[in-house]
Amino acid sequence: MDILNDSGLSTGALIALVVVSFGQTLLAAFCLIDIFRRPAVLGGRKWVWAVLVILFAIPGSIIYLAVGRVPAPVPLPEEGDDAVRPRADAATVLYAPAEQGPAPARPAIVIAGLTKQYETATALAGVDLQVPEGSVFGFLGPNGAGKTTTLRILAGLARPTAGEARVFGHDTTTEADAVHALIGFLPDVPGFYKWMTAREYLELSAALFGIPAAERDERIETLLDLAGLSGVTTRIGGYSRGMKQRLGVAQALINSPRLLLLDEPTSALDPIGRREVLEMIAALAGRTTVFFSTHILADVERVCDQVAVLAAGRIVEQAPIGKLRSRHGGAQRVIIETSDPQRLGAALSAEAWTGAVRRDGSDLIVEVSDLEVAYREVPALVARLGLPLRRFDADEVSLEDVFVDLVQGASA
Ligand code: ATP
Repeated sequence: MDILNDSGLSTGALIALVVVSFGQTLLAAFCLIDIFRRPAVLGGRKWVWAVLVILFAIPGSIIYLAVGRVPAPVPLPEEGDDAVRPRADAATVLYAPAEQGPAPARPAIVIAGLTKQYETATALAGVDLQVPEGSVFGFLGPNGAGKTTTLRILAGLARPTAGEARVFGHDTTTEADAVHALIGFLPDVPGFYKWMTAREYLELSAALFGIPAAERDERIETLLDLAGLSGVTTRIGGYSRGMKQRLGVAQALINSPRLLLLDEPTSALDPIGRREVLEMIAALAGRTTVFFSTHILADVERVCDQVAVLAAGRIVEQAPIGKLRSRHGGAQRVIIETSDPQRLGAALSAEAWTGAVRRDGSDLIVEVSDLEVAYREVPALVARLGLPLRRFDADEVSLEDVFVDLVQGASA
């Protein structure tokens, strides 16, 4: 250092020199890889661009990036081709077709006594949870319930204070590398390289995961299609939040993960983007396990087969969606209006398939064990009594009612 200083170079200038030369090497390396991986470049001669980049690293790279890159030709659709490939096709490219027969009921995630204590807040207070392999699992909870903390621990990005989380048997704290190889993770606020296009971003992700070149292009095409970003040449910096979120989901799928962890994947999307992401998730059902956190109940109802509700750092319920509804107070309820509610009420109370029978004006509100039985038996019973049936409706408790009850119960 003294010698350099003696030769007139300050330490600051030396550091700047090292940074600039490292930066230009990286830039030139990126351009060279890009030149030879790209199907075509301007003028058609790849070696001319490569020589330019090697000889004049910074200006050569800038000129190449500005004008040398020709977008890959989009094949013309053949007769019978659909403009948009069905989501199920995409899932087939990413995953081998689902095996016939019932999937083995192995847990993809096992969480036991998971606790996370921050200096000022208890984020998780002893969470126990099992997620079966192949399920689409909704992790539902209000703001501050601890969803992000759980997902960060599952992804090996945070350490629990107590308890453990396992992904396919691997401890997320002590075997983080094994876990990383099995998961795809979309954080709640994903970060991107703004100067890249979606394709470049996915190419970079594929390279980082060491995905073989033979599979790379088809997989990237499929994911761009899934994300609705095929043919979009704008750089990520110019994307809407929805486009970024869709790209984030695509990126999380790049390594065909056995477990896809998504933190609020639909919250920033417009209705069409939301539907596209949900369709994509639905197409993955049975091929991989999807565990996603959300506060959007409608999304859970549309695609999840299982749901857990987290409130104030604790699981307050875990069940298949149908069971969750029926467990929480009269999920199966019918409303009947006739000319003589008193008589019909007495007759209904004597039936084995009814529970509580309540009168509300001329209406009867009847809890039933099975809606199908009620649909069959109520009109028959009313006819036997010789009464007119003026109204007969099912009154299902929505998941939203259940969710509000559970969350309020947990905070009471
Ligand atoms: P949201 O839906 O609002 O993102 P969430 O269910 O994901 O909420 P978390 O982000 O996991 O909840 O937060 C759970 C609790 O832990 C909150 O009270 C939060 O303030 C607290 N918390 C989270 N991260 C930290 C941190 N790094 N330091 C201190 N407290 C934190």
